[in-house]
Amino acid sequence: MDKSLESCLCELLVLHNVSQCYSRGGQPVTVLHDINLTIVRGQTCALVGASGSGKSTLLNILGLLETPASGRLLFAGQNMLNASAEALARLRNREIGFVFQSFNLLPRLSAMDNVALPLSYRGLSRRDARQQAQVQLQQVGLADKLHDKPADLSGGQRQRVAIARALVGNPSLILADEPTGNLDSQTAEEIMALLLGLNRERGVTLVMVTHDTALAGRFGRQIRMVDGRLQEGAAHGQF
Ligand code: ADP
Ligand code: MG
Repeated sequence: MDKSLESCLCELLVLHNVSQCYSRGGQPVTVLHDINLTIVRGQTCALVGASGSGKSTLLNILGLLETPASGRLLFAGQNMLNASAEALARLRNREIGFVFQSFNLLPRLSAMDNVALPLSYRGLSRRDARQQAQVQLQQVGLADKLHDKPADLSGGQRQRVAIARALVGNPSLILADEPTGNLDSQTAEEIMALLLGLNRERGVTLVMVTHDTALAGRFGRQIRMVDGRLQEGAAHGQF
């Protein structure tokens, strides 16, 4: 096979010299400095670092939610920085599932309708979307909670709904921003086992931000962010 085609197939995301700036009090502040990073399909990658070091900013860029100020970003070999907003939204909907610390479920919708939502955006009929949502909720252990609203569920159950919503479209990438940050330790362990199991069983690529270095050690790859710069690997005992 052609070498460049081969690398496109296994490299899901490639960042070249990606920087991000925000304005603070009218002054530009650089929060990511020349990030070079390749995420390979099927990988599990933990992103750790102090609060404010740029983890969520990097995750949002990986998830095509934010556009970097400079650099290059390839998703499945395609340049994302000249893609239209519609193309980015379509790619996010089809290829990427997000899981957040605060679950981000819609409070008025049942668990099933929260999970069906990404499929409705994709144009599926309500009936088909709900049917697939039901299957997905069964797979995360919530077969008996289909009609419950988020307020009627525990934290762990809400996060399972959010994971089902992230997975329902069969994405190639799950991005999770401190998904166990609001959960007690036993529930956090269950959610971690679920996410890592999905990687093993479905081959879904997993990038997760966590404060917990023991948790990070269970991922195939560990990256630390320090003041908007990446440090990789466990070689210096920092993980
Ligand atoms: P982390 O997730 O590691 O805690 P963030 O990526 O959220 O870090 O933030 C990195 C830095 O960028 C912080 O100093 C934060 O205050 C700043 N920041 C994040 N988002 C914005 C924004 N939308 N506007 C201005 N500053 C921001
Ligand atoms: Mg953050």
